[in-house]
Amino acid sequence: MKQKKSFSGNISRRGFLGLAAAGLAGAMMPGTAGAARRGEEIATLLDIESCINCGQCVQACREVNGHKYPEPEKPFPEMFPARVKTEDWSEKRDISDRLTPYNWLYIQTSRGHYNGRDFEIHIPRRCLHCQNPPCANLCPWGAAVRETNGIVRINDRICLGGGKCRDVCPWLIPQRQTGVGMYLDLMPRFAGNGVMYKCDRCYDRIALGKIPACIEVCPMQLQTIGPRESILRQARELAQDLDGYIYGDVENGGTNTFYVSPVPFEVLSDNIVKGPGRPHLEYVENTMARSELLTAALITAPLAGAAAGLLSLKAKKKS
Ligand code: SF4
Ligand code: SF4
Ligand code: SF4
Repeated sequence: MKQKKSFSGNISRRGFLGLAAAGLAGAMMPGTAGAARRGEEIATLLDIESCINCGQCVQACREVNGHKYPEPEKPFPEMFPARVKTEDWSEKRDISDRLTPYNWLYIQTSRGHYNGRDFEIHIPRRCLHCQNPPCANLCPWGAAVRETNGIVRINDRICLGGGKCRDVCPWLIPQRQTGVGMYLDLMPRFAGNGVMYKCDRCYDRIALGKIPACIEVCPMQLQTIGPRESILRQARELAQDLDGYIYGDVENGGTNTFYVSPVPFEVLSDNIVKGPGRPHLEYVENTMARSELLTAALITAPLAGAAAGLLSLKAKKKS
């Protein structure tokens, strides 16, 4: 195996903070090969062979984003008809071995045998921030959006918790908390059932010229963030050096998260615990290329504008 290139020395931590200090926050972001222009698509590279499963990234995500977590009102209104399941994680906030509304990042472990050798690889899992995200394209209310810099996030003031975003996400990433959000004010018995939550790529930190918390604290500096083209080029170089593989460059039509591993991802996927809140690592076709979903996106688009009306209705109700 060839010696692995180290990209972490080039990154960013200092550069990022330096930009913020220089008053350029929100205008530029450092990457390993230059800064991203305002609105330019940003991506991350994860050299997962380096992960030691210390959990510091998971903890940092919780600390930095805890103020965005739901505080549900109880008892929950009874749904009629009871078609949308109640999901309550508020008494299980400590769970860190899967995705929940209170845990947007977790470490998945794959152990197995490949190419005559045993392996144990740890994989930080969260939303991949797809380039053409079905969660955003098919959200009936326009609550899930893809921003020009590639960040996909869910507006908790608009989301009704119906969970379409999770249904159409190939990895079933967004997680619902019942008893919170706009449905309580508008249609507590008839619509949605809460709000959907997931990694928002620390969009507020990025707007200030800082890097996401999980990247900043990692003692192995295994994540690199920067302009997509530059990060993808580095991912390919690293994969070549490792005689390894990339996940996320073509999956679901392309994402802004590139995992690089010396073990094929289908082998990793065969050796992880999968299920609700625990996504797979299999190849995924471009969801939005499916003609029925393209049509659905066209039909739901006009509805998204109604969300603004619902918000103002809520504001009136409260005044
Ligand atoms: S991974 Fe899922 S939730 Fe994240 S952007 Fe893609 S489709 Fe949306
Ligand atoms: S980018 Fe931010 S929100 Fe996403 S997993 Fe990392 S720390 Fe959490
Ligand atoms: S902080 Fe870094 S090394 Fe530790 S679990 Fe997270 S990604 Fe892995």
